[in-house]
Amino acid sequence: MQRFSMKRVYFLNNLQVRDTNRNRILNFLYSNDRATKQNIAEALRLSMPTVSLILKDFEKRGLVTKSGTLKSSGGRKPMTNSLDYGARLSCGIEITQKHLRFVIIDLGENVLYYKRTRQFFRSEDTYFQTLADNLTEFLNESHVDPNKLLGIGIAVPGLVNPASDILEYSPTLHVKNLPIDSMKKYLPYPVQVDNEANLAGFAEIWKMDETKNAVYLSINKGVGGAIITNNQLYSGANGHSGEFGHMTIVRDGLPCSCGKKGCFEAYCSTKVLTEPNFDDIEGFFDALETENQHCRQKWETYLDYLSTGINNIRIIFDSDIIIGGEISQYIQKYSDVLVNKLRLINSFGGAPDYLHFSRFNDKASAIGAALLHINSFLNS
Ligand SMILES: [Zn+2]
Repeated sequence: MQRFSMKRVYFLNNLQVRDTNRNRILNFLYSNDRATKQNIAEALRLSMPTVSLILKDFEKRGLVTKSGTLKSSGGRKPMTNSLDYGARLSCGIEITQKHLRFVIIDLGENVLYYKRTRQFFRSEDTYFQTLADNLTEFLNESHVDPNKLLGIGIAVPGLVNPASDILEYSPTLHVKNLPIDSMKKYLPYPVQVDNEANLAGFAEIWKMDETKNAVYLSINKGVGGAIITNNQLYSGANGHSGEFGHMTIVRDGLPCSCGKKGCFEAYCSTKVLTEPNFDDIEGFFDALETENQHCRQKWETYLDYLSTGINNIRIIFDSDIIIGGEISQYIQKYSDVLVNKLRLINSFGGAPDYLHFSRFNDKASAIGAALLHINSFLNS
């Protein structure tokens, strides 16, 4: 049941989601491959005819297949049922300042295809035309059956207002009040758009049955996050929750992209590491590996501020913290240093075992975007 509960709140405004027996059976098959009708009926306390009816419908939709038979203790051998993850697919796109990331995932959140292309963002019609062309190319290269594709999800680094369907504000893309319709215009599929950090947090937590509360801290050129309580995304009154990048960590400190001073983002954006010497984060970490003195100093200071921010978040939420975004695949190697810094400033003692790193690294937002359609489908 937990697997889809987060989405129920996530979409509460756009979709009437009901807790049906169909969802319960799907969830059961997620964790119990090759289950018989009897297994399902007993575990979920449903009648055999109800289970039969629902399984038949799933089979008709290509969601469930008969996967074999079990030994019989007499009489007919019971058939086993399995989910067919590849029955439906979804595509996610992440828009960043300089790149586009594309993924295709199946119903089990497995990444089947991935591509990253260099494409500078422009708030112009031609950009969205190019995006559609890039998508067509990606789908052709992936040889995906278009009939299996549920839709396109788009992750953007900014505040998306679902009520007015507007990208209200994105400092990294330098746009304000961009209608979502202008993004969808050239895409011949159902399209859903949301904030990159929320979607990345959604992707990270979707299959983690044990984790109910977590904070996802997204570190890219912009710094953001998502707050998950009881497997549900907490959006706040205005959808602005988890904007950790703009909490003040140094009063009257460095200027931030939001126009204020001393924000966490001004100290822990990946731009702090890359500018002005490196094109991208990979370049910085390559130099750091070679014991470049300037980079080492920069990294040390960076980790000091990062640990301050993480410690603040931990004090407020007392939950697991997952570090994601483009930094995550590089920072894991230095986790000992970071953990040590956290240990020194930890107000309540004990080892900072609450710290985790993203499973999907820089693909998380695109995966989360694709997941929107998978989740809607599984709940319909
Ligand atoms: Zn700021």
